[in-house]
Amino acid sequence: MKEQLLFTPGPVNMAPSVRSAIGKNDICHREVEFEILLKSIETKILKLFQLEEKSGYRAVVITGSGTAANEAILSSVVGDQHILVISNGEFGERLHAISAIHNKNTHLLEFPWGEELDLARIEAYLKGHPIDVVAMVHHETSSGMLNSLENVGAISKANGAMFIVDCVSSVGAEVINLKKCDIAFCSSSSSKALASHAGLSFVIGKTPEFEKLKDLPAKTAYLNLATFYHFLKTRSQTPNTPATPLFFALEQSLIDILEEGTLKRFASLRNKARFCGKGCCGSV
Ligand SMILES: *Cc1c(COP(=O)(O)O)cnc(C)c1O
Repeated sequence: MKEQLLFTPGPVNMAPSVRSAIGKNDICHREVEFEILLKSIETKILKLFQLEEKSGYRAVVITGSGTAANEAILSSVVGDQHILVISNGEFGERLHAISAIHNKNTHLLEFPWGEELDLARIEAYLKGHPIDVVAMVHHETSSGMLNSLENVGAISKANGAMFIVDCVSSVGAEVINLKKCDIAFCSSSSSKALASHAGLSFVIGKTPEFEKLKDLPAKTAYLNLATFYHFLKTRSQTPNTPATPLFFALEQSLIDILEEGTLKRFASLRNKARFCGKGCCGSV
């Protein structure tokens, strides 16, 4: 078959190393081989965020696309507290829709698609409402808008709210400083800038926040982050049958990205984006 060039934010064209890693081996996910594989993936995800092991963050991997990671966070960490979803595009709207299914105390603050978030309005909303959690999208894929996280993280912290972020299309393409932006939980997926097969997602979060999740009543069985964290912490395992071939591919894409160097890769992606912008629109 003729090779297709993909210009979408995800799926993207995969390296031959990643495409072939999927068939690496037949292993049983309840054996030590899978535990080593999951540990290797977690360590590499932390490295992607410039975090060492024991840095106070852990990452759980979920069999399911990016939406699964978003729903795992929104259904597992908020309880019945008040959550404000900030939106300036399709994926912000989706965060709101998911949260509203799980929690009637879901608020929405909307901004026009493709426009920067108005920090004064966000601050005023937080001052005027009893908000415990703030959620937003980093790279709003629908419009190509890269939202700034540091300011919203700081405003959330100043108002005593936990900050959670959908980084599905920015992980692997942008620097994300979880500590500086005071992000408690962040989601991403295997098939956008990480350039692996579709079907896996992950949640990276502060270890103390993961620890607290067991005290909240479960709202879903399959996407319960407390259960994912318990299996990771006690056995380097997943609660249910993982799509093991996809884990081999994700590990390979992380190996390739870390070998290239994250900053080098981010710069090269920016150059490509600039080049495409010029070609399509004659501007940028
Ligand atoms: C693609 C995307 C999602 C949804 O991911 P799926 O893999 O389609 O479930 C969520 N948020 C953002 C920002 C995305 O780009």
